[in-house]
Amino acid sequence: MVAGAGLVAVAAPLATATPAQASQHLWRWCFQCSGLWFSGNNTNGHCPLGTGLFGWEHPHRSAGSGDYVLTLHDEPGAGQTDWWWCNRCAGLWTVLLGVFVPKCPNPQYLNGVHVNSGSGMYKLETLPNMTNGPGGQAQWFTCRKCAGLFFAGNTPQGVCPAGGAHERASGPGSEHVLRQL
Ligand SMILES: [Zn+2]
Ligand SMILES: [Zn+2]
Ligand SMILES: [Zn+2]
Repeated sequence: MVAGAGLVAVAAPLATATPAQASQHLWRWCFQCSGLWFSGNNTNGHCPLGTGLFGWEHPHRSAGSGDYVLTLHDEPGAGQTDWWWCNRCAGLWTVLLGVFVPKCPNPQYLNGVHVNSGSGMYKLETLPNMTNGPGGQAQWFTCRKCAGLFFAGNTPQGVCPAGGAHERASGPGSEHVLRQL
């Protein structure tokens, strides 16, 4: 496991800088699947890499990732709510794409979907000018196939639990800028 390095470097000082808010850090980008997942539960969840045809099982990985911060839906500020953590795979996903099957990579659930039980409702913040800048990273997209959030700045665009690579949803509200500690 490689999660330890990032935790040591970033946790303490910034957590006390915003004491009035419940913003939650320890969200990580996975270099295997390009998805966002929560690393604070002593499990790396289930990565879509290899959970398909041959049944290999992989956890998400955090190497190379920043420490991303999400806000909860009732915190101040504008944003897009209805994002949830999935306790089956540790990934972040949205119910806003209700017409699509939110495919979960956890192989214990054949053709299973992401679930929101046990999760708070998150809000992806609307940050000023939707471009890369101090504290913010653009090119995060809703995947139209799995309803997850993934970073589209790399080629190929990760591994989707619904098969192939993730694909960007279209239309307003499908691109997001994430804050990092
Ligand atoms: Zn992954
Ligand atoms: Zn899931
Ligand atoms: Zn996907």
